[in-house]
Amino acid sequence: MHILVINCGSSSIKADIFNFLTKTSVHQLSVERIGKGTLGKINGVELVCHTTEEYSEILKAYLTEFVRLWDGPKISGIGHRVVHGGDDYSQPILIDAEVKSAISKMIPLVPLHNPVNLKGIEICEELFPDIHQVAVFDTAFHRSIPKRAQYYAIDRKLSDEKHIKRFGFHGISHQYVAEQAAEYLKRDLRELRMITCHLGSGCSITAIEYGRSIETSMGMSALEGLVMGTRAGDLDPGIINYLLSEGYTKEDISSLLNERSGLLGVSGQTNDMREIIKGAMDGDDGCRLALQLFTHRLRKYIGAYTAAMGGVDVIVFTAGIGENSPVVRHRSLQRFDYLGAIFNEDLNRDVKISLEQPVVEISTLNSRVKLLVVRTDEQKSIALETEKILSEKFKVNTIPVIPIAISARHVHLRQDTVEQLFGKGHQLTFRSPLSQPGQFSCEETVTIVGPRNRIEKVRVLGPARTYNQVEIARTDEFFLGVDAPIRDSGHIEGTPGITLVGTEGTVTLSEGLICAWRHIHMHPTDALLFGVQDKDIVEVDVEHNDRPITFKNVLVRVSDKFKLEMHIDTDEGNAAEITNGTKGVLLLTGSTCKLRKKNV
Ligand code: AMP
Repeated sequence: MHILVINCGSSSIKADIFNFLTKTSVHQLSVERIGKGTLGKINGVELVCHTTEEYSEILKAYLTEFVRLWDGPKISGIGHRVVHGGDDYSQPILIDAEVKSAISKMIPLVPLHNPVNLKGIEICEELFPDIHQVAVFDTAFHRSIPKRAQYYAIDRKLSDEKHIKRFGFHGISHQYVAEQAAEYLKRDLRELRMITCHLGSGCSITAIEYGRSIETSMGMSALEGLVMGTRAGDLDPGIINYLLSEGYTKEDISSLLNERSGLLGVSGQTNDMREIIKGAMDGDDGCRLALQLFTHRLRKYIGAYTAAMGGVDVIVFTAGIGENSPVVRHRSLQRFDYLGAIFNEDLNRDVKISLEQPVVEISTLNSRVKLLVVRTDEQKSIALETEKILSEKFKVNTIPVIPIAISARHVHLRQDTVEQLFGKGHQLTFRSPLSQPGQFSCEETVTIVGPRNRIEKVRVLGPARTYNQVEIARTDEFFLGVDAPIRDSGHIEGTPGITLVGTEGTVTLSEGLICAWRHIHMHPTDALLFGVQDKDIVEVDVEHNDRPITFKNVLVRVSDKFKLEMHIDTDEGNAAEITNGTKGVLLLTGSTCKLRKKNV
């Protein structure tokens, strides 16, 4: 299953096509600086697909091109990041007119985000009228926050009437990294008290008590809480009245707090934490203060959230700064010994977060609190949530299966061997087709003669090949008294020989006796669907009966001459009570990637 994920920001667009099976993005679009000299890239290659700086047109033009350039399987669903779902949605939901109206109702609270999210939905409805769309809300994860943390201490009626309460944002990321952390620790999220720090260009921190968000630093808007790149975070509301009385307009104040505050405002130079840290090291006062304010505020929140949960078991750092800045992690985690949280500076300095290593632990062995750096992946999380909704609602089978066939012992022959066994000028006689295109079983059979026993009526398969190969099962080896190595078909160097008897002669092969390496034949389109390459090693699960089994070390063979089918020998099939037509499910393990690297 492939899912298109769309993330429309106020001046940027991100889209990915996710292969659900491999859980990876296989086609990417990124558009930045919309309205100020748009920069669009598809799979990293810069492309200009628009003639205006108007958001809807740019979105439509790039999405159309993005999908035109996709030559993989059909898209099964579309997931949209929607920033504000209001009080109504605590879960992702299939988009219909009612959902769109609810998203539209929240526009006054997030004027920069919900309108573009809606545009994304409407354009997709136009471009893909037959594909279901799902809204995944940034606020949804925080709907579990209790009233005491949701309400501001102002007139309660006004709060309810005007929706003035804490909604919280970055919920997709907080939930995703919390789940990743629990999985890494092999613990149930429902038994952990966790603090997740999402530190990117926008920053927020969440207290997750036994799996539920119970406090988060962003509030009614995405302005409250931590110091951010250009946003102020917490401040005394009196400041706003004071600025109004000093002649500032509403627009001035909005621009000040959203675009000219935070790291940029305090340093007076940059909103990029890398430059702030460099400036601070070079002795720049503004950068030093910006770094201090940033980490002090974060420490304050970690302490407060620990108190709110009566303790903490795991603290997670994520997003651009959280994943990449040892300096920020070091400064925010100092002197937390009283919480039982002790970080290891060497581990902290060496963190290298990647797709292959999405979680790194930076606490000491004796630290009661686990300190983790976790790679966030909002796009992937949206894809997973979208898949969940589609498979629940429509019972879509998201996991393609692989038919399994059992190869009985058989023989492949060269034309000269055919003639030695069956007579001069003899051609193999077609008996019936095999599943792989062009392959067939022949009327001819041979007798395999081993030192201990002989096996008669072993089928010859056609057409004739450029090498002789005799494929037998382990039980046959014992019976014949030979020792055949496990080999990929065609790799017969160094294998033992064996004697074959035909109707017109006997041949003793000098090599070619093998026990076939269990393998999957795939057409390149299947390989794309499964996200594998030729020579990958995978695992296949078979759970059809009382003897469920996982076949490890299964070789993937990709060719445009192949049809999707896994081949095992009779011993393997009997051990798992598999009959022809039984289906398997491909599992991709970490070792697939490692082995792929080795093969390359
Ligand atoms: P995000 O919004 O998650 O993409 O995070 C973007 C921010 O991450 C940028 O504004 C940078 O300040 C910050 N960032 C990225 N790499 C580093 C790094 N190596 N050290 C410190 N900050 C970084």
